[in-house]
Amino acid sequence: MSKSFLAVGECMVEMAPTAEGTYSMGFAGDTLNTAWYARRALPDSWTVSYLTGVGRDQISDQMLEFLKSSNINTDQIRKLDDRTVGLYMIQLKDGERSFAYWRSQSAARCLASDPEHLARAFGNAGLIYFSGITLAILSAKDRSAFMDALKSARVSGSKVAFDPNLRPRLWENLETMRSVVTEAAGHCDFVMPSFEDELEHFGDATPKDSAERYLAAGADMVVVKNGPEDVVCARRGEHQSYTPQPVGSIVDTTAAGDSFNAAFLADYLISQDVASSVEAGAKLAATVIQHRGALVKILEPA
Ligand code: ADP
Repeated sequence: MSKSFLAVGECMVEMAPTAEGTYSMGFAGDTLNTAWYARRALPDSWTVSYLTGVGRDQISDQMLEFLKSSNINTDQIRKLDDRTVGLYMIQLKDGERSFAYWRSQSAARCLASDPEHLARAFGNAGLIYFSGITLAILSAKDRSAFMDALKSARVSGSKVAFDPNLRPRLWENLETMRSVVTEAAGHCDFVMPSFEDELEHFGDATPKDSAERYLAAGADMVVVKNGPEDVVCARRGEHQSYTPQPVGSIVDTTAAGDSFNAAFLADYLISQDVASSVEAGAKLAATVIQHRGALVKILEPA
């Protein structure tokens, strides 16, 4: 397998409030978070790349600089003349966070609009990682090109991992979200949902039910996360549960699932051992939730 981890999706500008009443600017996004942690969890013999779309303006250049300075390869990123990157703002009211988004015309929405570009990017990848958010922001035509490219990449030996990360507000309707996510799961070696989302939007009674549903859709392995509760790993005819170490003081659960996925996959790609991969995933997620923010500098990048 080629030692190349390719994450695909949308990285956004993040405006986060400071104690002084101003905002500090950063960059974040679910698949970007996973790429960032995968870079830290994988040995330096691996390349970690990000595929998205950006514009040709100053803020897009800053995003590319941020990725490069995180040792994430940007060669596959599409640059569009007439678009720029998406943005979100975090607002605090009585200690509760809420989010406002400006992303409906973001350049990332065009990440899959050139099938030849997609085939080239996927062709070099040992592992392709994407999420339900990646699919949600694409047009119906581009979703279908994306799935075709996944199929071809798998035939050439790439592995595929997917976190459904169900966000109904990003989709045209719930029915489309459910059917596209189910179809995508059928092209995957690893489907890595969070049970809370699956319970809410697919009505699964237990994590094992979520696992069975994605196996029936055609996934090879399903890893269901469930906050502090057991992680359920399933392959056809086989289920195992692993209890994460309890975490005493939780500061901020942002990126718990994204970091879990990165450390799980980084371990599994090398060890092919489910138990040690779950342990690695839970250990990294436990550290991440004991710090503020999505990107916690606990491990140095390789
Ligand atoms: P998401 O961020 O997608 O909602 P989860 O909440 O399911 O993800 O958490 C992902 C992983 O993070 C869990 O499988 C677990 O390993 C770890 N984790 C999350 N919350 C806790 C917690 N309260 N105590 C211990 N581990 C946790």
